Amino acid sequence: MKEACGVFGVYAPGQPVARLTFDGIYALQHRGQESAGMAVSDGETITVVKDMGLVATVFDERTLSALQGHLAIGHTRYSTHGSSDWRNAQPAYRAVGRAGFALGHNGNLTETDTLAERAGMLPGVATSDSDVVAGLLAAAYPGTASDPADGELAGVIQAVVPELAGAFSFVLMDATHLYGVRDPHGFRPLCLGRLGEAGRPAGWVLASESPALDVIGAAFVRELSPGELVVIGPSGVRSVQLFAEDQVDDRLCIFEFVYFARPDTRLHGIEVHGARRRMGELLARQAPVDADMVMAVPESGVPAAEGYAKESAIPYGQGLVKNRYIGRTFIDPDHQARERAVRRKLNPLRDNIEGKRLVVVDDSIVRSTTIRTVVAMLREAGAAEVHLRVSSPPFAWPCFYGIDTPTRAELLAASMTVPEMTAYLGADSLAFLTLDNLKAAIGAGGVGFCDACLTGEYPVSVPLADDRLRAPGDRPGVLQGALPGV
Ligand code: AMP
Repeated sequence: MKEACGVFGVYAPGQPVARLTFDGIYALQHRGQESAGMAVSDGETITVVKDMGLVATVFDERTLSALQGHLAIGHTRYSTHGSSDWRNAQPAYRAVGRAGFALGHNGNLTETDTLAERAGMLPGVATSDSDVVAGLLAAAYPGTASDPADGELAGVIQAVVPELAGAFSFVLMDATHLYGVRDPHGFRPLCLGRLGEAGRPAGWVLASESPALDVIGAAFVRELSPGELVVIGPSGVRSVQLFAEDQVDDRLCIFEFVYFARPDTRLHGIEVHGARRRMGELLARQAPVDADMVMAVPESGVPAAEGYAKESAIPYGQGLVKNRYIGRTFIDPDHQARERAVRRKLNPLRDNIEGKRLVVVDDSIVRSTTIRTVVAMLREAGAAEVHLRVSSPPFAWPCFYGIDTPTRAELLAASMTVPEMTAYLGADSLAFLTLDNLKAAIGAGGVGFCDACLTGEYPVSVPLADDRLRAPGDRPGVLQGALPGV
């Protein structure tokens, strides 16, 4: 049950918001391609439309024009193999209280089974984390508004959310109000934007990433704080801290900076593209090599490759062409299918490569399908040398907080040293950016990050018996002592 996704919400009295929501979730398409959906309220009735597929497949003019209202939330759901199911499409909707409520979730809860039990769900009945949360909220619903000015859901959220553990950025709505919630570690991003003038706001927006504000002409106001609930309605924006001070510990996912977020997104006030360029610059200083051309594995490796080229003064060139009509190759469960998909997606530019000593930059190696296939293709195309440079540290631990990652057994860096990886990948050399340099490149001085995928230090306890944590050669029970963070 994994919920790495894009979330969006908008409240704009007097304005139809379905099209704004379409544009917002379209800008968050990279956060999830499995399903898309939105819930729209006209102040009395909530209508939900969601389906499998991309935003532009699920919504067309006809569906959008039928969605009337000034309040909406939207969602794009990440592809995770094994759970590709209509029931998991979001927003989740529950008919309780005056008009019910809808919920969109980005993140991954831990201890879902205990929570499901508490929500009165039989084991195995809940199809996703979000389903469990919707169940818990529905069970805590008073049915009548205790304070209609605040929206019915505000009190329910305040009662239920402090009990949750793990990663969650939620957008929620009842018939009249929009709500945003971030977990006390702030694992997943969530920001607040404004429509209209600062003194005379025409509406408010919530989004996983700031470009979703840009595309609808909203101004960025601020990121939600870890543990914060914002309640948006006719009386403006109200903020509540849901967690005690000692529970709040800012740990934004560092992989948002490495790979996941859009380059034009700002996180902790820092533009992701600039951070990725600096990762490449520091990588060039940390692991220089004599070569003729620096190239990227497109698209995600491009900013770091530009940074490497600038710092090393080795010319930057294009060595691979990407078929831009092919999406993610990462999630296919079958290795050979993934390799074929990489070849379908990337093709070498022979004249640029032949006889050259290449520095090849990518943002990460996970299972290694991409980079191993790329090395083979570049050699077939006549490269003289292939030096791999990766703009993040070895990825050796699965994520339990919302990014789809394979089991530890499938992660290359979990079972091989750098020399072993170099030989396995067929490269002339291989270097990874150090964690210190990654943090220096981001440059968010003093801010904490979750770097569990790189260090094994999990800020929220994870199920130690989970098979995902077992690397080849690990004996059952061995992990307890081996997990650095536990
Ligand atoms: P792999 O081929 O398994 O080594 O995956 C690494 C490649 O996939 C890199 O080129 C990354 O840009 C990309 N990538 C890394 N993490 C993810 C993720 N969680 N979801 C999708 N793609 C990813």
